Amino acid sequence: MAIEPSELPSLNLSTMNPASSSFVESGDQTSQLAHQLVGRRTLLKNGTLVLAASALTNRRLFAEEVKSDEKAVRVGLITDLHYADKSPAGSRHYRETLGKLEAAGQQFSTDQPDFVVELGDLIDAADSVDVEQGYLKTINKQFSSICDERHYVLGNHCVDTLTKDEFLGGVEQERSYYSFDRQGIHFIVLDACFREDGKSYGRRNFHWTDANISAEELEWLRGDLKASSKPTVVFAHQRLDVSNHHGVKNNADVRRVLEDSGSVVAVFQGHSHQNDLSEIGGIHYCTMAAMVEGSGPESNGYSVMDIQPDGTIEIKGFVRQASYRWDV
Ligand SMILES: [Zn+2]
Repeated sequence: MAIEPSELPSLNLSTMNPASSSFVESGDQTSQLAHQLVGRRTLLKNGTLVLAASALTNRRLFAEEVKSDEKAVRVGLITDLHYADKSPAGSRHYRETLGKLEAAGQQFSTDQPDFVVELGDLIDAADSVDVEQGYLKTINKQFSSICDERHYVLGNHCVDTLTKDEFLGGVEQERSYYSFDRQGIHFIVLDACFREDGKSYGRRNFHWTDANISAEELEWLRGDLKASSKPTVVFAHQRLDVSNHHGVKNNADVRRVLEDSGSVVAVFQGHSHQNDLSEIGGIHYCTMAAMVEGSGPESNGYSVMDIQPDGTIEIKGFVRQASYRWDV
């Protein structure tokens, strides 16, 4: 339920959830809140006042940073391919990923995305390094043939058998976390494959539920966002919006950094294999369907996202992938 600024004086400020707002806590709260609302949308959810980055804030962000006559940035999204030449286990059909990726590739050849982001777990977890490198070569050869510009988010399975260097070397990507700009929009790739003690995942040295953004990476993220005023989209494998086993353990700290920047509009993630969408602090957290789940072309999932110069984001989902449209 949206609340107009005129309704503000009747709000009980003590119900505000400090974790989900960047609101100032001292002084004349009512006037500060009214001031904040110039560019903010306010939602009342379960009795908790949540300040969310607003349509107006996002519109201004895009208006200032993206030329209105630019074409949309188009991004292909795939996740959780878990490719391996092995028999199915439960609902995971590892070999079928090749055919499913081919179908996604046909769609991408029609839609011509500017780049494709693979949101993690490209491979599964082979018994030996040699076998795993063979699987990586097979799946990456096919992936490379469908799009020239590719971005790989590290998933826990990518570095179950391999080390980070081996995986990154295999896909010819320099870093596990980094950022880049396209047509006035800032994109960030995160790596949550760190143990709580800060050590990188690699070669079975971790438990999959112990996913963390390292202190060094968090510091980098803070600096990266500070240096950019552009509207920003973030890609991660493990989830930044939940506190269950699929969530990054320190994701509340990460969300605070994202929210404080005032420029992050959406986060795309994989890992839990199902469509899901939440909104926290005005940021969309969109979880994408896994390609490996289920048998046959009717079980596939992939999408093409358009980010329009006015800030409208449209995700066209195929087969089991849900579609979304977020207007500004
Ligand atoms: Zn997965």
